[in-house]
Amino acid sequence: MTENEFIHSFASEHVIRASGLLSLLMPQASGVGIGIKGLDGRYLLANKAMETLFGKSAEQIAGMTDSDLFPPPIAEQLRCSDRQIGDGAAAASDELELSINGGRKRCLWLKFPVLGPEGRVLSIGAVMLDISGQDNVAEMRQSLERLQQSNMELQQTMVELDRLASTDKLTGAWNRRRFEETVSNEMDRLKRYDHPLSLLIMDIDFFKDVNDHHGHAVGDQVLAELAAVVQSTLRATDSLTRWGGEEFVVLSPNTTLSTMSMLAERLREKVSRCAFPGTGSITVSLGVAECISGESWESWFKRADAALYRAKACGRNQVQIAPETPQRLGIGENVSANFVQLAWHSAYECGNALVDEQHRALFGDANKLFTAILSERPIEEVAALIDILIADIVQHFKDEEEIIAVAGFPGAAEHAVIHRQLTDRAVALFGCFRAGTLAIGELFQFIAHDVVARHMLGADREYFPFLAERR
Ligand code: GH3
Ligand code: MG
Ligand code: MG
Repeated sequence: MTENEFIHSFASEHVIRASGLLSLLMPQASGVGIGIKGLDGRYLLANKAMETLFGKSAEQIAGMTDSDLFPPPIAEQLRCSDRQIGDGAAAASDELELSINGGRKRCLWLKFPVLGPEGRVLSIGAVMLDISGQDNVAEMRQSLERLQQSNMELQQTMVELDRLASTDKLTGAWNRRRFEETVSNEMDRLKRYDHPLSLLIMDIDFFKDVNDHHGHAVGDQVLAELAAVVQSTLRATDSLTRWGGEEFVVLSPNTTLSTMSMLAERLREKVSRCAFPGTGSITVSLGVAECISGESWESWFKRADAALYRAKACGRNQVQIAPETPQRLGIGENVSANFVQLAWHSAYECGNALVDEQHRALFGDANKLFTAILSERPIEEVAALIDILIADIVQHFKDEEEIIAVAGFPGAAEHAVIHRQLTDRAVALFGCFRAGTLAIGELFQFIAHDVVARHMLGADREYFPFLAERR
């Protein structure tokens, strides 16, 4: 009787519908041990290969359990996988070292249920493979490696497909589909954790002229180059999306309106200074808006778009900031409240009353200046506030130098040199601003961040211990 006839006679005799897996295995099963066990763990059937492996005839094997055939630990392991099948598992496997005919063999046991007509487990099918031969192992390892390799390639292809499906071909920027997925997540985070979220819309000025004068191909190059310039300025968490034509959107999570406005100003300046291949220079107009908690995407985008429209209408090559709605933004104080970088904290105090008072006043000056910039006060008013800020800085530096010298701070002379450098640069930049060669964003960045915030929270802290001792 061939193995096929054997299993079929078994199946018809016991009215068992063998699982599809079993009948699939049978024709190619030479050298592979196949056995069928009852749920009581007794072998009902064993094929030729099983007879050879066990060194017993099929008749002898029938009625035996694994405990009769193997040492206790192995029998227990096989019983365990039998139980899994009995409990309804679709498959189970064991890898075992067996002593067979005086030699050691590494065997892989695969088990599966043999189901009756109504899907009940009637018996347990066992397939046993000898995997001790080097060829087998090497072959298996090779096919495993091939499988892993093709799996990796598949993954790379999928990553690439995803990238292609989510980016714009010409500029490498995100496309709208990708943007839309992200923005809704970020708006959820805003709603849940109140993390600030801002965006800017950037549109190239008179781009039609670029195409008209230099051709569409040059126009394309400009778009690609512009995207690269913007990308190089963004942080890893910001994203650049090509919104359409010559219009781009930057989305910045964890970013307030004030910080976004400065980013917009930096981008505007950088683009205006850049030499683009084939055209020389171009300029961009930008509209900035921070999302208000509970606001819809449409309303937020509309505010940014309206700001962009104003930037175009007011002469292009500029940044306009969308006003926030009245409930979040009263007058200036709420704008500066958004400016978290310069919120005063008691941890900034050094213990000297005069120094602390002056440091705190400088924060206030910087915030007032920022408010004036944001609310687009007339240039003279802004300049007057810069004057006040610089005068306060100069006075503070003078007082601080005296105090730290008296306190015996060894770095006092060096600190005074830093003060002079900061003051000189602030005055020089202010001159440029007045002469119209420096944007307000850059001046503000220097005075507020480099002088007030970074110097006070950085270099100044070195003398703090000397003042604290005298408290
Ligand atoms: P404005 O300052 O008002 O924005 O003027 P503009 O000329 O930039 O604006 P307009 O909307 O009139 O023209 C946009 C131009 O951008 C027209 C279109 O041919 C061009 N454009 C849009 N997409 C592409 C593109 O993929 N490649 C090139 N080369 N040009 C494009
Ligand atoms: Mg344009
Ligand atoms: Mg100082």
